[in-house]
Amino acid sequence: MLSTAHRSRTPHTADVVIIGAGIAGLAAAHHLISAGVTVRVLEAAPYIGGRMATEEVDGFRLDRTSQLLSTSYAELLSAPGLEAASLRMFSPGVLLHSDGRQYRTGAVRSARSALSAARALASAPRPPLGGTGGALDQARLAAALGRLATVPTARLLARSERTTLDALTGRGLPARTVDGFFRPLLAALLCDPDLTTSSRVADLALRGFARGRLCVTAGGAATLPELLAAALPEGTVHTDTCVTDAAINCVTTKEHGEITSRSLLFATGARAAAELLPGLRVPAFHPVTTLHHTAPVSPLADPALLLDAEPGGGPVAHTAVMSEVDPSRAPGGRVLISSAVLGTPPPAAELERAVRAHLAKLYGTPTDDWETLAVHHDPEAVPAMPPPHDARRTVRLLAGLYVCGDHRDVNTAQGALFSGRRAAHAILADLGVKPGAAALPAAA
Ligand SMILES: Cc1cc2nc3c(=O)[nH]c(=O)nc-3n(C[C@H](O)[C@H](O)[C@H](O)COP(=O)(O)OP(=O)(O)OC[C@H]3O[C@@H](n4cnc5c(N)ncnc54)[C@H](O)[C@@H]3O)c2cc1C
Repeated sequence: MLSTAHRSRTPHTADVVIIGAGIAGLAAAHHLISAGVTVRVLEAAPYIGGRMATEEVDGFRLDRTSQLLSTSYAELLSAPGLEAASLRMFSPGVLLHSDGRQYRTGAVRSARSALSAARALASAPRPPLGGTGGALDQARLAAALGRLATVPTARLLARSERTTLDALTGRGLPARTVDGFFRPLLAALLCDPDLTTSSRVADLALRGFARGRLCVTAGGAATLPELLAAALPEGTVHTDTCVTDAAINCVTTKEHGEITSRSLLFATGARAAAELLPGLRVPAFHPVTTLHHTAPVSPLADPALLLDAEPGGGPVAHTAVMSEVDPSRAPGGRVLISSAVLGTPPPAAELERAVRAHLAKLYGTPTDDWETLAVHHDPEAVPAMPPPHDARRTVRLLAGLYVCGDHRDVNTAQGALFSGRRAAHAILADLGVKPGAAALPAAA
């Protein structure tokens, strides 16, 4: 069963109507309401949260997405109701699999502490061949990430733009660091196995990784929209309300007829926005498949994100023993392993076979007795962002008409939340109302 439904009678007028109760629409509602504006959020589905959905199966909380968040997402930390206690951290850096072994890398330190760690590591057992496990490589990597963490957004967005793959090969990094660390990490962070994404978007993602810790929301991805919705005044969000036609001052819904407003915000996701507003561009999308398994015993007693450093090693882009990261997702101390496959998957049986074989290699344990709990495929999981990409695409189409969502920013939860904030501020400016909450930061 998917998460909480929000049903209430739909008043037929508001200052602002928002179409879509994903995190972008819910965030925009907060910023508008805190400035004193009346808002109705209309959601077609029987549940809120859009792509950030969690379902319950036999007591397991299973995300339909394979959400990787970061404690560096400024919008996430300032989201109403989402205090730090609701975030569950992965262990620092990532765990890379190479040559039949796992080793931790990418934990960020200052350049100085990275170099002293290198001296200590030099006397440690030899790392796997071909990876980034060498002491000096580790130190260089940590120092490079440490430097990236300090670069302001404006400078990152002013860098020349190429595909992520071209940028990686052109930056003079050792091939073993590119192939053994950056490729698998960026593929996972961008949901883009071919690294066709704009290098600026990749730089933002890497900087986010360098600045914070990877994390998930306690209880599943749906916790974030649920907390956002719970902090809104009662009666703001209307589920089971599908907008079929839209003009600035009036929307038509299948279930409740017409609703009038002074301003209209599309927070529907790129394709649905283009269906209601012909002329809006529909981007290409990166497909993602999320698989959940349970095992008799935990294959890894570490809340780590595990990546394969060996190119072509198998279909799994990233995997984690999610019950170690967030025990509340598995009932009675049971084990939950969540994994992501990027791109268009093969037929179900073939995928399952290939994933089990790959997981057996990654975790170094047989997976024949693992039980599959759920497989979710989303062919339009995240909008593709090849160069040139404007990471701050305008959210104001004209006075009274606005659009937000990850497709107007960067394709992450941070991008969706920030676009919601940008849209709210554009609406308030046109209505001549001062923002009630913190002013829009110059960059996030
Ligand atoms: C498999 C997968 C993996 C992902 N991995 C990550 C990750 O690791 N890290 C990360 O940060 N992000 C990740 N994302 C992306 C993240 O989930 C999205 O960026 C974010 O949820 C987008 O929020 P949104 O509000 O812009 O859009 P959505 O969540 O798509 O919300 C749009 C809402 O509008 C509603 N709607 C559409 N049409 C209508 C209509 N006509 N009337 C009323 N309502 C309508 C929809 O039902 C939906 O609820 C992933 C997404 C997927 C699917």
